[in-house]
Amino acid sequence: MKILFFGPNGSGKGTQGAIVKKKYGIPHIETGVIFRENISGGTELGKQAKAYIDRGELVPDSITIPMILDRLKEDDCKNGWLLDGFPRNLNQAKALDQALKAEGITLDIVIEMILDREIAKGRIMGRRLCVNDNNHPNNINIDAIKPDGDKCRICGGELKTRSDDQDEEAIDQRHNIYYDTETGTMAGVNYFKELSAKNNGVPRIIELDGRPGVQEVSQELLEKLEK
Ligand code: AMP
Repeated sequence: MKILFFGPNGSGKGTQGAIVKKKYGIPHIETGVIFRENISGGTELGKQAKAYIDRGELVPDSITIPMILDRLKEDDCKNGWLLDGFPRNLNQAKALDQALKAEGITLDIVIEMILDREIAKGRIMGRRLCVNDNNHPNNINIDAIKPDGDKCRICGGELKTRSDDQDEEAIDQRHNIYYDTETGTMAGVNYFKELSAKNNGVPRIIELDGRPGVQEVSQELLEKLEK
């Protein structure tokens, strides 16, 4: 199963993505996580990406596109993958579509989490990252996933914040890119919707309301994936 997961920063797509990963047993490839691992590992890629990430800007396509297309060629991607955080603009959407077509790979599903940017912003600022597992959801602004004091609600691990999550300017910049229907992420979403309309519903488009609680959104997502 090959799946793209779109949603503004703070919509909960990382949390819901973990559920999709489990359901299909496919790798959950998160562009932002790859960049952050490279930054903490002090790699050349991390050094190149850091300044862009700190400002909430996109890392240039010349770095990001080959990085992801190479990742999709790794062994664990043979039976499918869930891409989260890529494509992030129209150019990346077209590059991915072309690369998949060239390899004869069919994209099965495109999930779009829909959430107003003010709500998304509040969620981003409340987000806490567990040092043990990036998929342990903790958010001081969401009752269902409030941390246990200052520790992870799942494993009791230490919690951290991302510096770009506490910088309102960087958040606004990330959202400006997401909601941009000309060349930004929404242009990429619309690109795949048009493709689906022209191609008898392939990829299948699943729209999700991101406003309800984590459990409700998961339930809606799983129901829609079963159909
Ligand atoms: P995220 O963890 O998805 O919020 O991503 C964190 C940051 O990584 C973004 O603000 C960008 O600077 C960078 N990034 C993530 N995905 C991409 C992408 N597909 N293209 C360019 N930059 C990206």
